[in-house]
Amino acid sequence: MRVRFWGTRGSIPVAMTSAEVQRKLVTALVAAAGRGLDTAGKARAFVENELEFSVSHTFGGNSSCVQLETDGPDYVLCDLGSGARAFGTSLLATRGPSGHRFHIFMSHLHWDHIMGFPFFMPAYLPGNHVRIYGCHAELETAFRRQNAAPFFPVDFARMGATIEFVRLEPDRRYEIAGLGVRAIRQHHGGDSYGYRFERDGKAVVYSTDSEHRLEDPEAVESAATFFADADLVIFDAMYSLAEAVSVKEDWGHSSNVVGVELCQLANAKRLVLFHHEPANNDVRIEEIWRETLRYEEISRTGDPLDISVAYDGLEIEL
Ligand SMILES: [Zn+2]
Ligand SMILES: [Zn+2]
Repeated sequence: MRVRFWGTRGSIPVAMTSAEVQRKLVTALVAAAGRGLDTAGKARAFVENELEFSVSHTFGGNSSCVQLETDGPDYVLCDLGSGARAFGTSLLATRGPSGHRFHIFMSHLHWDHIMGFPFFMPAYLPGNHVRIYGCHAELETAFRRQNAAPFFPVDFARMGATIEFVRLEPDRRYEIAGLGVRAIRQHHGGDSYGYRFERDGKAVVYSTDSEHRLEDPEAVESAATFFADADLVIFDAMYSLAEAVSVKEDWGHSSNVVGVELCQLANAKRLVLFHHEPANNDVRIEEIWRETLRYEEISRTGDPLDISVAYDGLEIEL
């Protein structure tokens, strides 16, 4: 399995500002002084190998959309945030306009997780098949309403693909698109659902928009069972621990520290911090990454946990 991240920002898409571009350029130019970077190749190698991530990259960008690539013929996505637009456009450019089947698993129906659908071009093209799965009763209504006037100019009925909605029950295993799939209810305003996907002995957990409460033993037990031995856990780490336990308690999100503790309890192999707070710039997100790495080191009791920070364009091979 390969996991590709098309949208990683929480709550609302965020564009990099001109001030941030300038900060990166200035930092890079100062670091490059006297290095004789007189060819594109030398400059590229310097950018790739010697600059900090927050200088050479950006965490982005689009709101939640993650692709699970298997060797099967169908496309599998989690959530349809604004990252779905980038995914759809790239797919049409490389694989042609129609004949595609999509299986899309929705964590919940908050706007940042559905806003990409009106811009998901494959859904407008006849010959494509889009199946949207979720546990919420309002699954279909929410998508139809988003495309209705006065919110959007093209009504849902005018989308040319075959679009189906499939209600799933949590805590039940399904076989979909060659994957074993199970959903779990999570603590979030209006509820959200995490998914565990299994194939060929590998397991990926997608757990966004969930406030995990370490003081509730039953909730911890249930999350640890759901995450058990996962090869990859994509985790809502919108806040730092200080934020999560103070002002932002009950806002429905978790922290980097909670992510580490649950993965350690569950013996998961790799944690990806996801759904970044829109107020955090690249420097702050990189700082949270470093804090998380430090926390993992000092709290480690078993095998080390691999920790990454999601960014638009990240690919992880399992
Ligand atoms: Zn969200
Ligand atoms: Zn939400």
